[in-house]
Amino acid sequence: MTTPYYLIDESRMQKAMERIRYVEQHSGAKSVLALKCFSTWCAFDFMRPYLAGTTSSSLYEARLGNEKFGGETHGYSVAYSDDEIDEVVRCCDKVIFNSLSQFERFKDRAQLVSRGLRLNPRIGYSGYQLSNTVCQYSRLGVTADKLPADIGEQIDGVMLHMNCENHDFTDLCRQINEIERQFGWLLPQLSWLSLGGGVAFTSDGYPLHEFSNRLAELAEKYRLQVYLEPGEASVTQSTSLVVSVLDIVDNGLPTLIVDAGVETHLLDVLVYRFAPALAGATPLEDGEVEDAVASGKPVYRVSGRTCLAGDVFGTYVFEQPVALGQTLSFTDVASYSMVKKNFFNGIRMPSIHYKNLNGETRIVREFAYEDFRDFLS
Ligand SMILES: *Cc1c(COP(=O)(O)O)cnc(C)c1O
Repeated sequence: MTTPYYLIDESRMQKAMERIRYVEQHSGAKSVLALKCFSTWCAFDFMRPYLAGTTSSSLYEARLGNEKFGGETHGYSVAYSDDEIDEVVRCCDKVIFNSLSQFERFKDRAQLVSRGLRLNPRIGYSGYQLSNTVCQYSRLGVTADKLPADIGEQIDGVMLHMNCENHDFTDLCRQINEIERQFGWLLPQLSWLSLGGGVAFTSDGYPLHEFSNRLAELAEKYRLQVYLEPGEASVTQSTSLVVSVLDIVDNGLPTLIVDAGVETHLLDVLVYRFAPALAGATPLEDGEVEDAVASGKPVYRVSGRTCLAGDVFGTYVFEQPVALGQTLSFTDVASYSMVKKNFFNGIRMPSIHYKNLNGETRIVREFAYEDFRDFLS
């Protein structure tokens, strides 16, 4: 098999899908896939029965959701431009505005769809400032003090997105309580409320039963359709990036050079500074490397083949020594990787392989020199 390739595996995606279905069945809350996290549409036939539809960050995502996924299509954008809004309205059945000025500007052109507003509850639990949507001066959503008293007569729903990989159910409860405290006056006038993404409810150990109860309680109290917008939570653990070792160098630390890169294919590793899970290996913290090497264990830094000095996946202790030509598999790369991949350095773009529940694998897409050439002109 020619490397590098992404391998999407239905059997590894199914657990998250089943948990999404469980939550809908036990709470009535519908989930829409956040396309900005994962938009590899060869998987949509498999995902469709479990999800109510998609949500988007732009016209193109809204159009993809409408064309390739179907069901409910939610449109959101930090800012729509004048030449996009009509097509967004054509693609979507809900359009969510980020600000009151965008809402005022485009509300008449969105009369045919359900109109919503993003609210900012100013309470969030992102471990990273970069993805903290409720930070000081955040431009994402309208805060309670700015809402006109008659807003409930003009909109059908609201969306609040204030989490990022949040595994703590009590955090979410605090947020919901706070949303009720700040916006409880408005909620009875609405027909839907979206709690956004970033809730790790498909991960092992998340209290799905309590979670469903809390969502059902919220829906019942205000007579609302509740939505969730799982991106990461929809595709967690479903996809691998398989690479080959092209060279092994040692300038003080044994270093594997593989036929992919961090900035090109797993950009979030650079942005959020973590070592991606690698089959058969355990990541080491910086302070642990010297001791591990001294103990004689097979320790390697795994690096990409772009010219970026910091093109490093991580330093790992392996179960076995690694040989030239061997393949390595990063095991959890669906989220925010394929959507961000690029042709930096002109290195070969990983192809996309897809494995169905019967264990049959097909190559869905391969990329060639022409794709690199035609991205620019
Ligand atoms: C990014 C985003 C999501 C998805 O977030 P995940 O952390 O991937 O679940 C959902 N809704 C909105 C508005 C977003 O910006």
